[in-house]
Amino acid sequence: MADCIFCKIVAGEIPADKVWEDDHVLAFRDIQPIAPTHVLVIPKVHVESFADVDEIRAPFLASLARAVREVAAAEGVDTTGYRLLANTGPDAGQEVMHLHVHLLGGRPLGPMLSMRGSGR
Ligand code: AMP
Repeated sequence: MADCIFCKIVAGEIPADKVWEDDHVLAFRDIQPIAPTHVLVIPKVHVESFADVDEIRAPFLASLARAVREVAAAEGVDTTGYRLLANTGPDAGQEVMHLHVHLLGGRPLGPMLSMRGSGR
């Protein structure tokens, strides 16, 4: 997609610190890491979010799972643990509208959600 920064990374038009890829998925380091390991795993095809994953786009999911497994092992967080996070839509603060899974690890990550601003 023309104006998508992650599509430009896939196309090689913008540099990225790539750590894993196959035909369907690319994994690269987040430019503003919030943990010692902070890798983004994305489908090479443009999909906005998990809300847009249907049967046609689903084949990348197996690659995504494999990427997570292999990146976690390569980063040495497979035994210590890690968090997968996929911000989806405005309330989650999704900034880049190309599906991406954050793989975070390398330190205790604390509670899943910030308690600030919490409420039902
Ligand atoms: P989200 O808020 O879930 O949409 O996260 C978008 C993430 O993309 C942020 O953590 C950014 O730091 C990261 N990001 C944005 N541009 C780049 C880039 N060119 N290379 C690597 N990571 C990026």
